[in-house]
Amino acid sequence: MNRREICRLGLLPLMAGASACVAADAPGATLRLGGGEIVLTLSGDFSAATRREIQVWIKRSADALVRYLGRLPAPRFELRLEAAPGHGVSGGVTDRDPALFVGARVGRETDAAEFLDDWVLVHEMVHVGVPRLPRAQNWLHEGLATYVETVARARAGITSAEQLWSELSRGMPQGLPKPGDRGLDRTPTWGRTYWGGAIFCLLADLRIRRASSGRLGLQHALQGVLAAGGNYGEDWSAVKLLGVADAAVGQTSLSDLYAEMKDQPMPVDLDSLWRELGVVQRPGGGAVQFDDTAPGAWLRRGIGS
Ligand SMILES: [Zn+2]
Repeated sequence: MNRREICRLGLLPLMAGASACVAADAPGATLRLGGGEIVLTLSGDFSAATRREIQVWIKRSADALVRYLGRLPAPRFELRLEAAPGHGVSGGVTDRDPALFVGARVGRETDAAEFLDDWVLVHEMVHVGVPRLPRAQNWLHEGLATYVETVARARAGITSAEQLWSELSRGMPQGLPKPGDRGLDRTPTWGRTYWGGAIFCLLADLRIRRASSGRLGLQHALQGVLAAGGNYGEDWSAVKLLGVADAAVGQTSLSDLYAEMKDQPMPVDLDSLWRELGVVQRPGGGAVQFDDTAPGAWLRRGIGS
């Protein structure tokens, strides 16, 4: 069972032209953190208690990503939240109109535990920190959002290391090439887009870490993209994005892996990879366990901490 639904990237804005937006606490409530600002607008009739929970949730989600990226994913972006019936966060979207914004629907009954469990907001904010790419590389955008969200929330202590590796090891098989599939640029299915892209990110993270003896990882490559002015307000090619990211870590790991995976369905032996990293599946499900005697346990620990 996969909890991830599709998020809308660069499609029609969720609430473009909405005339009934009301501010969270004051018109255009602005949260300043991580060297930037998020302008929050709430649309609809949230209770005062839910508004307070929303503030806590936004701060927690943004802090988790700032911890990973070293700053907010863009100097300034809008967060447009629309009240919806029931529980939970859905309908995530990242776009520009021309203001850079993240939109989502938030159930009026969403409680503190459900906000804590939410992955949508961090996922969308990762998109904000990656330049817009041609449609053929949607998998790279979604892969980065899927992978970085999962890692960043665990590193911030919102989820545990066991949850992080359970998510990746259960989700990634859906991203493996099926018979007849081609490379990631040529197979725009749901599984290859979200989890195929996430596999690319994990493999890249591991290559960067191996080549730097654990000193650097994917996060440093992505920090270099932000430092070069890259965010969803910019249109870049995948070659440029990966080149800038590689340059930040003094490697060619990302560009090399892209060349290997973009056209051909590169096989990936995930079971061997989990063994190497010391991620042990429990029979019958449940959270994974860790084997710290595995040869790549240091890599797993480096990603999760
Ligand atoms: Zn997405």
